[in-house]
Amino acid sequence: MNIKALNREERKAFLVSLGEPAYREKQLFQWISRGVDRIEEMTDLPGALREKLRDSCSFESLVIAAEQISSADGTRKFLLTLPDGNTIESVFMKYEYGNTLCLSTQVGCAMGCSFCASAIGGKVRNLKAWEMLDQFLVCQKRAEAPVNHIVLMGMGEPFDNYAEVSQFLRTIHDPDGVGLSYRNMTVSTCGLIPKIRQFGIDFPQVNLAISLHASSQREREQRMPVAKAWPMQELMKVCREYTEQTGRRITFEYALIEGKNDDPGEARRLAELLRGMLCHVNLIPLNPVAEIGMQGSSRSRAARFARVLEDRGIPVSIRRQLGSDIAAACGQLRRNNS
Ligand code: SAH
Repeated sequence: MNIKALNREERKAFLVSLGEPAYREKQLFQWISRGVDRIEEMTDLPGALREKLRDSCSFESLVIAAEQISSADGTRKFLLTLPDGNTIESVFMKYEYGNTLCLSTQVGCAMGCSFCASAIGGKVRNLKAWEMLDQFLVCQKRAEAPVNHIVLMGMGEPFDNYAEVSQFLRTIHDPDGVGLSYRNMTVSTCGLIPKIRQFGIDFPQVNLAISLHASSQREREQRMPVAKAWPMQELMKVCREYTEQTGRRITFEYALIEGKNDDPGEARRLAELLRGMLCHVNLIPLNPVAEIGMQGSSRSRAARFARVLEDRGIPVSIRRQLGSDIAAACGQLRRNNS
C-alpha cells in the first residue's frame, strides 16, 4: 500500500488504525510535501512508528526515466515512469517571474486535436491526484530550484479528469504542505463547457486558459473534435460569464500554424470574437510534430497576426519558444521513448 496515494483523511484514519495519534498525519504530510520518501529521514517520527510504517506501507515515487536539458535557456524536459509502468512528461521552465513546471494530468489524451502529439495514441488513463503532486515534487527536486508556478498544460485534458485535478490543486495549495497560492496555478482546457462553469465556482482564483486555435466553428471543429460537442458560440458565452462572475482574465491560447490559421483575416475574426472580453491572447507558433506535418508560423507572420489584435485593443503576446533545441512539444519525448 502506497501511503502517498491516500488523501489526508484516509491517511489519518490509517494512522489511527495503527494506534497512532491523528496529528502524526500532519508530520507525514509535511515530509511527503518536501519530497522525502525515505522513512529514515523522517526524524521527528518516533522509532516505533517508523518501524510500523516500514512494515505496513511504501512511499513509492515516480521515477525520472529520461531528461533533456536545453542549452539555450535551461528548459528541462522530464519523462517520468508511473508505478504501473506508463510514462508521462513534465517540463521545467525559467520565466522572468520565477520557475514554472508544466504538468501532465493524464497518460495520453482523448481529445484528438489534429496538431498535438499527446493525442496520437489516445487516452490510456487518468492520473491520480497523488501522482500529479509527486510529479511536481520529483521534478522540483531534480531541477534543484524552487518552483512557484504550475501550469496544467502537459499531456492530457485536465477537465476530462476533473475530480483528481481538483483534489491535486487543493492538496498542493494546502498550507501544511507545498502551500502554493492558487493565483500561481493555471489550468488549460480545450473547452469542456460544463467543467469551465464548475471550475469558475470551485477555483475562482486559479488562472484559466482556453485553447482556441481557430476563429470560426468550422475551422475549429476540423482542428479540435471537441468543438463538435461544445460549439464555439456557446464556449464564448460561457467564457464571458466566467469573466463576469470571477472578475478574472481568461488566457486564450492560439497555436499559429503556417498557412492554416495565421492570416490577418483570421486575426480580425478572432478580435471580433473576443471584443470587450476580459482576456489575453497567447500566440504560440506551433511546435512541429514529426508525425503530423504542420509547421509553426514564421516570426513575421506571427508578428503581423499580433499587430491586428493589438490594433483592435486585444491584449496579446507571442510566447517565447523555450527549449526549441529539445523535443518540447507535449508528448514528443514519450513517443520517442516508446
Ligand atoms: N488539454 C489541454 C491542456 C494540454 S495542451 C488543452 O487543450 O488546453 C497545452 C496547450 O498546448 C494547448 O493549448 C494545446 O492546444 C497546445 N498544443 C498542443 N500541441 C501543440 C503543438 N504541437 N504546438 C503548440 N501548441 C500545442
